[in-house]
Amino acid sequence: MQILVFNAGSSSLKFGLFSVDRETREVFKGSYERFRNGECDYRFRHGETDERGAAPFASLREALTGVPDALMRFGLGSIDAVGHRIVHGGAQFSAPTLLDDARVETIASLTPLAPLHLPANLEAVRLCRALWPELPQVAVFDTAFHLTNPAFATTYAVPLQWRDAGLRRYGFHGTSHKYVAGRAAEEIGRALGDLQLVSIHLGNGASVCAVNRGQSMDSSMGMTPLEGLVMGTRSGDIDPGAFGFLFRELGLSVQEIEDALYDESGLKGLAGSSDMRDIEDRAAKGDPQAQLAIEIYAYRVRKYVGAYAAAMGGLDAIVFTGGIGENSPSMRRRICEGLGFMGLQLDHDRNMAANLADRAAPQIQAYGSRVRIVVTETAEQLMIARETAAALVSERPESPLRLPIAVSGRHVHLSREAVDALFGTDYELTHATLLRQPGHWSAKERVALVGPKGRLERVAILGPLRERTQIEVSRTDSFALGIDVPVRDSGRLEGTPQVTIEGPAGSFTTDGLIIAARHIHTNPADAARLGVEDGDYVDVRIADEDRALTFSRTLVRVGTDSFTEVHIDTDEANAAGIEVSATGELVEP
Ligand code: ADP
Repeated sequence: MQILVFNAGSSSLKFGLFSVDRETREVFKGSYERFRNGECDYRFRHGETDERGAAPFASLREALTGVPDALMRFGLGSIDAVGHRIVHGGAQFSAPTLLDDARVETIASLTPLAPLHLPANLEAVRLCRALWPELPQVAVFDTAFHLTNPAFATTYAVPLQWRDAGLRRYGFHGTSHKYVAGRAAEEIGRALGDLQLVSIHLGNGASVCAVNRGQSMDSSMGMTPLEGLVMGTRSGDIDPGAFGFLFRELGLSVQEIEDALYDESGLKGLAGSSDMRDIEDRAAKGDPQAQLAIEIYAYRVRKYVGAYAAAMGGLDAIVFTGGIGENSPSMRRRICEGLGFMGLQLDHDRNMAANLADRAAPQIQAYGSRVRIVVTETAEQLMIARETAAALVSERPESPLRLPIAVSGRHVHLSREAVDALFGTDYELTHATLLRQPGHWSAKERVALVGPKGRLERVAILGPLRERTQIEVSRTDSFALGIDVPVRDSGRLEGTPQVTIEGPAGSFTTDGLIIAARHIHTNPADAARLGVEDGDYVDVRIADEDRALTFSRTLVRVGTDSFTEVHIDTDEANAAGIEVSATGELVEP
């Protein structure tokens, strides 16, 4: 599925085209920004091409109407759906939502909650609906992840009348916090639901989120994206008493105060620049304003880390992301300084060497630090693409529900012991691509399988690591290996045959060789829609013209965050005439 994602801000339009199948890949990345005098800067990236220049667009509106031509120029005209980043979903939108007129109006009614961002987001939605009237459009909300926050975290201690009018805390950057929390859990090799994490997003906007066993519990941004950390141009936390003072002593109006808190404060207010690189350079040359700005910035983040560890009653890891979190070792170091008392200790060399190429998410805690420290790029647009695709499957008013079919090639799930034997002790696999099931990835590394009859080369490794190694092949592969392999559900490995896995550093012989029984991954919402429960066996019909086929006894596996799709192997796909992808439907019992 090809998903076009828009992130329309007040001063820039960013967009990306993603291919979402078993894995999500960014195919094209574009941006229009710095609108002035009837033109703007643009940048397009596609494969090896990285093109920049000036485009004759005076506004976001004009730039957006240029997107179809830009995509066509790269031969990318085929789009299945459009996903939009929407900053505020109020208390109504707790999940990605397929847009129709009524829902667009509901979002528009939330404008008072985010007057700077929502108008631009909605302008993009309206233009896209006019440009691509035939395509489904999905809204993915920055606030949605935080709707799990308990009332004691979202309620301001103000008069009831104000609260009834809608004054409460929401939190933003939800898509980013959700992504990086999942990425950190993957890296640590534990289920997100078992971890207490603090996610620290430090970009031009900045926020900290307490992710308690997979759910957002609290975040530093409040009713608006102004509360919390020091940001590029936003103040973050400030005594509300300042309003009266500024009004009485400096004669400022509400609008003037608000404008200054959004646009003239933060790093810019403290040191004259909103750009952390600038400020770090000046601080290094002895500029006292820049030095103080850095100290204040780090101190505020450190306070929130401590507060959220206390709020959750524990801390397993912190995660850095955003332009500053990803790129500034000195800021990471300042933030972590002095947190040794709570078991958090940075390794200075690992911190300096952290390299995020190839989607790596390095851990940079010192040996023996009880709390892990992970650095990762955020991938908001990729998450929006994924969530858009998922919303389509779960929201399409089509009956029967179409089930995406995913064809699994031969692959292995490795244990720590296996990775040590195959690649060397403590070797960390490189994550090459993210798979559609949240938290799952395929590695850049490959292995070979060796049986009495023959070898299978370049076999994929899928992560995260498991307690027990499991090797999944097709029946055809079992003949190539010369091993009689049973059909089994994933994880049921008792009495399965042995096979030898070969890697660059050695080989590993283990049982766990299976032909994976076909199954459907789904989530509670889709399961309800399909009328199935975890552990059910159902029949799935593939309506290929020449080789229509019904797969009976397909096991249903319901997981909280699972993306609904049917997993079959290559033999099954061949039998049903499926080349790359297809959809199927449930056969009514
Ligand atoms: P946005 O929130 O607009 O997406 P980014 O996540 O790109 O912003 O973050 C921008 C911030 O990251 C800027 O303050 C920039 O100076 C900072 N930044 C980028 N690279 C570095 C670096 N190497 N060292 C320090 N700060 C950096």
